[in-house]
Amino acid sequence: MSVPSGAIANAVAEGALPGRVWMYANYHCNIECAYCLTESGPRAARRELSTSAMLEVADQAAQLGFTDLGVTGGEIFLRREMPGLLVEMSQRLPVVALTNATLFGRRLLGEVEALAGQPVALQISLDRPDPHANDAMRAPENFAKVIAAIPALVERGVRVRIATTVESIADTELDRLCALHRRLGVPDEDHIIRPVVARGRAIDHHLGVIAAQSDLPAELTITVDGAFWSPFGPTVHQGLLDTDLLITRTTRPLSLPAQTLLRLVRGRPTGDDSTLNIR
Ligand code: SF4
Repeated sequence: MSVPSGAIANAVAEGALPGRVWMYANYHCNIECAYCLTESGPRAARRELSTSAMLEVADQAAQLGFTDLGVTGGEIFLRREMPGLLVEMSQRLPVVALTNATLFGRRLLGEVEALAGQPVALQISLDRPDPHANDAMRAPENFAKVIAAIPALVERGVRVRIATTVESIADTELDRLCALHRRLGVPDEDHIIRPVVARGRAIDHHLGVIAAQSDLPAELTITVDGAFWSPFGPTVHQGLLDTDLLITRTTRPLSLPAQTLLRLVRGRPTGDDSTLNIR
């Protein structure tokens, strides 16, 4: 059964389909977090989505009626071309780009100044208000690097969001974390809190909540290996790509995986939304 042209735009406009299209830019990273969904690290396979593929997806997402783009990894700024690529993508649709914010030395800070005033937000991971607790799950010196990078980005006019990924957090600790992000120049509306999901490296550390397909919003996610139901789909465990949330190996034209996703969404049984707050 084919989906009529314009159906994607209508489904997005009606709220039946989330408007964001995600892309996995790469899978390698300079650190190895305990809960990493993709087992990313310095030795991980790169699985890079080429620059031309990312721009093609951005163009086609805009043409189909999607409303914004997400870029994730791995650590995306290990790709030297990323600042310019984000600017180019943002000329198609607004972009949120996820980063661990540990690579913002003078050179990269200078390059990302080009994002100031553009519809791009950098979403930076900061889990705890204390260095020891934060770094235990992420990497040595992670906290110090992140709290230096955030105000440096804000001063340059780059929009910053903060993502806190935790199994649980006490109210008093959360209060201190919120006070910290406000001091760093990030307002409350740009702070999200989400649970650890039991995929990837989190499984080996006995961390996280089990997230079924019904818990995950249907956000079209494009990787070099295919299109997935959600950015929580193309995860890696014990070196192997998970394919339980793979919807098609064909990623372009983007209309093909978009139509496949819409058919799956329309076939989804009605019921209460998940309360896991996974996004
Ligand atoms: S969670 Fe992010 S920063 Fe941490 S290892 Fe994975 S990709 Fe790198």
